[in-house]
Amino acid sequence: MTDRYPHLLAPLDLGFTKLRNRVLMGSMHTGLEDNPKHFHRLTAYFAERARGGVGLIVTGGFAPNIEGWAAPFSGRLTTHAAAARHRPITAAVHAEGGAIALQILHTGRYGYHPLAVAPSRIKSPISPFTPRALSSRGVERQIRGFVRCAQLAREAGYDGVEVMGSEGYFINQFLVTHTNRRTDEWGGSYQNRMRLPVEIVQRTREAVGRDFIIVYRLSMLDLVPDGSTWEEIVQLAKAIERAGASIINTGIGWHEARVPTIATSVPRAAFAWVTKKLKGEVGIPLCTTNRINAPDVAEQVLADGCADVVSMARPLLADADFVNKAAAGRADEINTCIACNQACLDHVFQRNIASCLVNPRAAFETEIVVRPAESRKRIAVVGAGPAGLACATTLAERGHRVELFESAGEIGGQFNMAKRVPGKEEFQETLRYFSRRIETTGVQLRLGTRATAADLIANSFDDVVVATGVTPRDPHIAGEDEQRGAGRVLSYVDVLLHGKPVGPRVAIVGAGGIGFDVAEFLVNEGHSTTLDPVAWMAEWGVTDPGTSRGGIANPVVTPPARRVYLLQRKPAPLGKGLGKTTGWIHRASLRMKRVEMIGGVNYERIDERGLHISFGETHAKPMVLEVDTVVFCSGQEPLRELADRLRAAGVAVHLIGGADVAAELDAKRAIEQGIRLATRL
Ligand code: NAP
Ligand code: SF4
Repeated sequence: MTDRYPHLLAPLDLGFTKLRNRVLMGSMHTGLEDNPKHFHRLTAYFAERARGGVGLIVTGGFAPNIEGWAAPFSGRLTTHAAAARHRPITAAVHAEGGAIALQILHTGRYGYHPLAVAPSRIKSPISPFTPRALSSRGVERQIRGFVRCAQLAREAGYDGVEVMGSEGYFINQFLVTHTNRRTDEWGGSYQNRMRLPVEIVQRTREAVGRDFIIVYRLSMLDLVPDGSTWEEIVQLAKAIERAGASIINTGIGWHEARVPTIATSVPRAAFAWVTKKLKGEVGIPLCTTNRINAPDVAEQVLADGCADVVSMARPLLADADFVNKAAAGRADEINTCIACNQACLDHVFQRNIASCLVNPRAAFETEIVVRPAESRKRIAVVGAGPAGLACATTLAERGHRVELFESAGEIGGQFNMAKRVPGKEEFQETLRYFSRRIETTGVQLRLGTRATAADLIANSFDDVVVATGVTPRDPHIAGEDEQRGAGRVLSYVDVLLHGKPVGPRVAIVGAGGIGFDVAEFLVNEGHSTTLDPVAWMAEWGVTDPGTSRGGIANPVVTPPARRVYLLQRKPAPLGKGLGKTTGWIHRASLRMKRVEMIGGVNYERIDERGLHISFGETHAKPMVLEVDTVVFCSGQEPLRELADRLRAAGVAVHLIGGADVAAELDAKRAIEQGIRLATRL
């Protein structure tokens, strides 16, 4: 078994305990931590990942006291009674042969509540609350909170704790002068600033004994001004080792950093080099992280000597069976995390329960249950976009006989466009996953086949699932037909799927997710820095913390391939509706490429000069954008005539995905709807 991924699947001996492999499931807050009434779901969620072969699971963050809350009433572990409520979680993981550590997370000035505390009274840019500066007795109280939380974790049956010392949270705030202006023994010199994490680890070790895992998550690249130097990071790592930590995990970037660190446009394993710099400086195992989402990438990182352990959080939401599949030579069956954040982090930041776009069962294991079908039906699924693929393969997994009709020559629907956008290459993985799943579940795929109502009726299917998707909306701008004939007006499908030629000056009509994608596609002209890590680092101003504090440098941006205007009728800022945790990246990326974003426009007409626009109800400030091409990205309309005809003929029809509701269609809703329907038929 270890032949395939010899480094990744090798056990890790910590002396007092052995982890079965080098996969650490990184901490990912799901929201289930925040209410004990959800703990049975948390139990099922972790048990499934332990059954899937993970070496060491780290829970989402639990606060050591109320001041350390992420938000009012978020999860904390402060009493014996609370510890008892965790017992089913740890027992379930152990029953599956896994190990689990509780993450102790004190958010400091990132706390979204008025009780937040910090080394100094400095508000963070990502919370409206100004923290209270702690007295030295207050600092002592926080340390005691960490220690007691670790003791309670041990009492609850955990194999260890992870002390969250990175991402700009409480401990990290003590380390750098950016947030620590104290003049007492907790501030000033670096020796003083790093006293807090060292005291926490040392006193925790004394309290929990030698046979308990302590992972310390150390910020190795702050990506904020006045961040740590490399010398300071090494000094801290050595002190943390001496204080008794078992493993040092890597933290990359504070939450307030203006550099993407985990989004899909970040190159795979983009930060493993940072952990590698620390190799040899300490004797305890090092864990690396960020954008490692496939077993071959993880194996390579370990084989290259970057670390001893690999942390993956979102990839294990996407596929609980990741490790077992890799070990069994079935890596091509892994449902790969595409790093979209749409159902995990975006949900957490909206105070919803996290899940996963490509695996809606994540954190909903007790609710979405895929059972063998009671009777085997013949079911037609029409349309092999994300909704149809998810539905067809789940139906077949349950034992139904499924025929999947797709008029195009390939599966994927809208994903075939997304995968062509620079920075969205990961979307290809979902199509690879579904192709393989069609094979393993036995779905009969009919490509290049437009299923008609007559054919479907004649074939007497028990059920027909209509997942025929959407068609681009025509904005009906005066002059568009004439200019379309001249090749000056295109739809996003023409650009992304059919590769129609686009001139050097472009106006994009519509600034939703697809308008932003098309702009990204056009300004980069086929070059993706996601596939070119050196260029990516230069573009976002990431450098070696050995040469610049915090690892930040001046960005070096390559000029855009085209002059692009991105337009919408709403007066609101462009990109407001994009993902909560990724919208800023899309906006920053287009700003770097000097895309002009204009809101509040009326589209007056298109002619050979370009696109004529005006502003507001009075059609003020008329002007012409002199462009060679106008690209319509003005949303979609559902394609569902088939369903109407089938219904009229008395066929049992189910509408899913964009064919059901085109407005704000996204793959998250499409896949979830497809799978949920498939569990019911
Ligand atoms: P969308 O988000 O609904 O955006 C449509 C855009 O067209 C809006 O900017 C809208 O702005 C404009 N529009 C609507 N009707 C129009 C009309 N009659 N004439 C002119 N402009 C019109 O749709 P989308 O961009 O096609 O994206 C579809 C879905 O795909 C999104 O909801 C999103 O969930 C998903 N997606 C997401 C991402 C992502 O990065 N997360 C990327 C791609 C796609 P005004 O009405 O203000 O003009
Ligand atoms: Fe990965 Fe997206 Fe799923 Fe989050 S929602 S785990 S980023 S695929």
